[in-house]
Amino acid sequence: ADFASLGLAEPILRAVAETGYTTPTPIQAQAIPLVLAGRDLLAAAQTGTGKTAGFTLPLLHRLSATQAGERRPGRPRCLVLTPTRELAAQVHESVETYGRHLSLKSMVMFGGVNINPQIQTLRKPVDILVATPGRLLDHAGQKTVDLSGVEILVLDEADRMLDMGFIRDIRKVLAMLPKQRQNLLFSATFSDEIRSLAKGLLNNPGQVEV
Ligand code: AMP
Repeated sequence: ADFASLGLAEPILRAVAETGYTTPTPIQAQAIPLVLAGRDLLAAAQTGTGKTAGFTLPLLHRLSATQAGERRPGRPRCLVLTPTRELAAQVHESVETYGRHLSLKSMVMFGGVNINPQIQTLRKPVDILVATPGRLLDHAGQKTVDLSGVEILVLDEADRMLDMGFIRDIRKVLAMLPKQRQNLLFSATFSDEIRSLAKGLLNNPGQVEV
């Protein structure tokens, strides 16, 4: 199989080809059709499997295929939560790379840096927000970000987020999201805590394992 047969739009296929990828990895081959179909997803995948493109490519496709209800400043349509600033930066770079031929706007936010440049960026429309939980809650508390328009939620490396003690922050974020949305959960390991989070979060998820 190749990327075109998975159903991705031409501008995304072009970016993938320019990146030098010819064949989807196993997690991509399994996850992409499920996400394109609008399904929730429970994915068991380590880093190095191509999981980032596995969720980024189809979410770019879905966002570019549909109009935003209301495109307001600081109101993303897609939220990707990651445990660390390094991972947030990496995921954001992938979003920018694979989305380079689309007109979607993305931004990354994490703690440990001045909040003001992030606030400036949030004064413009944003489609895809990649964030660590603590700094996202800082913005939500200051109302510089509005999570009421989130159509797709991704929890990347969910097990690490729980290991780092982010479960309460994650639950606070979840409470700010609209009920009707698509949820993608990626985790390398499956503890009882992850299973319980997944059970409450995911609606009839497609399951992929590599
Ligand atoms: P990840 O597991 O998302 O951290 O990706 C691991 C590495 O695999 C990254 O360096 C990607 O650029 C690379 N990669 C992802 N998908 C593919 C693919 N289909 N073909 C070749 N390399 C890929």
